[in-house]
Amino acid sequence: MAARVLIIEDNEQNLYLITYLLETAGYRVIQAMDGLAGIELAKSVDPDLILLDIQLPGIDGYAVARELRSHAVLKEVPIVAVTSYAMVGDREATLAAGCNGYLEKPIDPDSFLGDVARYLPAPSGSGGGDP
Ligand code: MN
Repeated sequence: MAARVLIIEDNEQNLYLITYLLETAGYRVIQAMDGLAGIELAKSVDPDLILLDIQLPGIDGYAVARELRSHAVLKEVPIVAVTSYAMVGDREATLAAGCNGYLEKPIDPDSFLGDVARYLPAPSGSGGGDP
């Protein structure tokens, strides 16, 4: 079964690009455009990975990550922050909030899937090992 990726991202262009890249690679994508919607979906769809924008309307990505980690069923799901924040310390802040890793915007289509795959099992049908 295809891995399910929940994207929590308010920017339509980024949401479109990430969705396109993941669906083309065989992942199932679930979309949320704000943190509260993302938290509700995370509890209902049992995602294999959550891609989390940090700059979100309402509650920000740090608060979303902390909330997700407070739910027993979501304690183990990989959360990868996707953010244009580039300052020293932001990476540590995402990890402190409960994220497993950090991807920088702008999304690079050539490296994105490889970056994401490090946090996921391979899509069904893919027989390759680690490069
Ligand atoms: Mn944003």
